[in-house]
Formats: sequence, C-alpha cells, structure tokens
Amino acid sequence: MSDTPPLRLHSYESFGAVDGPGIRLVVFLQGCPLRCLFCHNPDTWATDGGREVTAAELVQRATRMKPYFGKDGGGVTFSGGEPLMQAAALLPAVKALREAGFHVAIDTSGAVDTPAARAVLDEADLILLDVKNPLPERFKEVTGLEISSTLNIFNHLKATQKPIWIRQVVAHGLNDTEAEKEATRRMIEGLNVQRIDRLPYHELGLHKYEALNIPYRGADLTPPSPEELKL
Ligand code: SF4
Repeated sequence: MSDTPPLRLHSYESFGAVDGPGIRLVVFLQGCPLRCLFCHNPDTWATDGGREVTAAELVQRATRMKPYFGKDGGGVTFSGGEPLMQAAALLPAVKALREAGFHVAIDTSGAVDTPAARAVLDEADLILLDVKNPLPERFKEVTGLEISSTLNIFNHLKATQKPIWIRQVVAHGLNDTEAEKEATRRMIEGLNVQRIDRLPYHELGLHKYEALNIPYRGADLTPPSPEELKL
C-alpha cells in the first residue's frame, strides 16, 4: 500500500452525517472538470491544489474514527471536486479501505468516463450520483461540459446495478421545469436507486468566489419551495 500513488486532498470532514449511511469520514479531493452554475466549492476545482495524501493515511484516519461510525453503518465517502478525476490514484485507496473493512461511497457527477473511473465505481459499495441537469443542451449551459460521458457512466451503473443515492441540487433557472423533472425521472430509470435527495439551492459558498476573484455564474438562481422539491 505504501507505494500506491498519492491523492490530492482538499480537506476532511470527520463527522459527515449526510454523505452516505451512518457517520462518515468525508474526503474532499481536488480537481473538477465541471464548472456548475451553482457550485459552492470553487476552491476544489484546481487539480494542483491541496496537499498529497496516501492510502495508508486514509486507512489510518478511518481506523481512528471507527468508534464514532455507530451502529448504522458509517464509513468513508470520497467527494470533491470530482473524485473520479483522480481515479487511477483513488482505486488503490478504495481497495485498501475496503480490505480494512470500511464501507466506501463515491460522490460523483459521472462526468469522467475512463477505465479507471469505471473500476472505482465497480469497487465502491455505494455511489452518490449527482444529477446536474438531464437535458443535453441545458447540461452544457449548467456545467460547461457535454453530457455524453455522464450518460455513458449512468449506463454503466445501470448495467452493474450498483446501489445508488441520487442527489440533485434544485433551483429556479437550473433544473426545475416540468420537462427537466420528467427528463430527470427518465435519466435515473433503470438505476438501482435506493434513495433520492433533492436539495434546495443555497448561496453559502459565495464568499469563496470573492476570495478567489472569479465571477459567480449562478447569481440569477433562486431556491425552490418544499413542494417543488418533489420529483
Ligand atoms: S461537480 Fe461539484 S465541485 Fe464540480 S463544479 Fe459542479 S458542484 Fe462544483
């Protein structure tokens, strides 16, 4: 394990309660190929930010936290950024954690379609799958990328029937029309969906844009009502 390539770490959250079952160590990795309108983590975008972390350090940290994971599961969740951007280095880390007995979840948009990314998804216990926008032309406006890689990964996850928690940040002007709702339902049909979380848009990360001196593209977005969060 000591000779596996290091990952670039943005930060840890030691008692994550919403990123998978139980209490979890959440590992935020650097690097993201998307530029979502509503992103509240622009400080994770750079692939060369953060610091290096080894699989051995992750196993050690998760082992220290194990007493706090509780009876309802618990484990380690990789988030970002987009964790699959570092899939080649992530794969041995996921394997090492699972060999040490930890439940591993990956929080991804599915926008990276490489053999290593697919191998990480196959190795993980649970995928937290973000649906940015289900319509190809709107996906490009919302994320800056074509939707094709994301659709390929969704099809891969349909074929493998990996357990999925769907996550979707919802806002007026982002993905709240009836056509977008209907397309979201179609996009996730056939996945092994165990839970759907539609989360209201918020502006908590705006100060990061000022600090990084980059323009915020989501200024016109507004949060939905609780009724509008239903899919
Ligand atoms: S995928 Fe996540 S980190 Fe990347 S731009 Fe979108 S919201 Fe931000």
